[in-house]
Amino acid sequence: MDTPPDIVFRHLPEGLAGHYDHKTREIVLDPRHPRRTVRPTVVHEMVHHNLDHMPVHCAASNTAREIMVESMASRYLICFSALLDAYMTFDSIEDMAEHLEVDLGAIYARFGSLTALEQTILAACGRHCKNMWAQRESAVHHVHQIAA
Ligand SMILES: [Zn+2]
Repeated sequence: MDTPPDIVFRHLPEGLAGHYDHKTREIVLDPRHPRRTVRPTVVHEMVHHNLDHMPVHCAASNTAREIMVESMASRYLICFSALLDAYMTFDSIEDMAEHLEVDLGAIYARFGSLTALEQTILAACGRHCKNMWAQRESAVHHVHQIAA
């Protein structure tokens, strides 16, 4: 890794939000994509740049590398406390992604990159606190109904 890559904007093929140009060492972004897609794309392509990735011509190797990059990018984009907070607050992955300003892929990658300790905290504390909040909200709603 040396200098940061330049970021350039140009229209890319349908469905492609960005890519890292290995020759020019530029991150190319399509400006037509929403912020929730562009943010994870920039971080993903920055990981490729920082790891000095060159093109891989083996599909299996490329897939393995993309999974690793996506995992690293998701950990950078979504710190565990933000993930835990979103997990306790929202009932759907879509709402979590919107709140965290990322696309669904970043959420799935972050869940896939949880450490054993993070999994334990999310399963135990996250579920417990979520249930406590749900019970509290239900109790508050019940009190309001009685008071009305
Ligand atoms: Zn990639």
